[in-house]
Amino acid sequence: MSAKIRLATVWLDGCSGCHMSLLDIDERLLDIADRIELVSSPIMDVKGFPENIDLTIVEGAITNEEDLHKVLAFRKNTKLLMALGDCAITGNVPAMRNTFAIDDLYNRAYVENADAEKQVPGAVVPRLLDRTRPIHEVVPVDVYVPGCPPHADVIFYAIAELLEGRMPDPMKMGKFG
Ligand code: SF4
Repeated sequence: MSAKIRLATVWLDGCSGCHMSLLDIDERLLDIADRIELVSSPIMDVKGFPENIDLTIVEGAITNEEDLHKVLAFRKNTKLLMALGDCAITGNVPAMRNTFAIDDLYNRAYVENADAEKQVPGAVVPRLLDRTRPIHEVVPVDVYVPGCPPHADVIFYAIAELLEGRMPDPMKMGKFG
């Protein structure tokens, strides 16, 4: 990996808590800032998918067609992919919907619980996949960082090790939940 890595972060079906924990690295971000070029992230306004990414950090599970499109595009353009947090690693909270039929989910969300405009949306809302999947069921994952959310120390350890050209093992430091 070159001295300055091209970094992308992606938000799929998650609550953004993992991104918040990433930002909780706080002042240590300044220590690594000059070694990172952020090329895509929910915290910036970038359209499309950058190429030649060194590391892509993915929060959340794969639940709908848009999630699937994103994770395939980033995997195609990144050297390393990190599954950040329990939703990305196991499906966690988003996968709780897997015990219900898709039509029942749509009816519950958009008809039974709606006060007005009771109808299942069409093209505007990405269609749900048959089930919510963790990242590794769809594309290869290089680094797993557990936690809901992962502790900032564990995230920093993982990124710092990668910057030094070493493959981290955050599963030894962090824990699920
Ligand atoms: S792992 Fe926890 S904090 Fe991270 S996106 Fe999922 S629910 Fe939110």
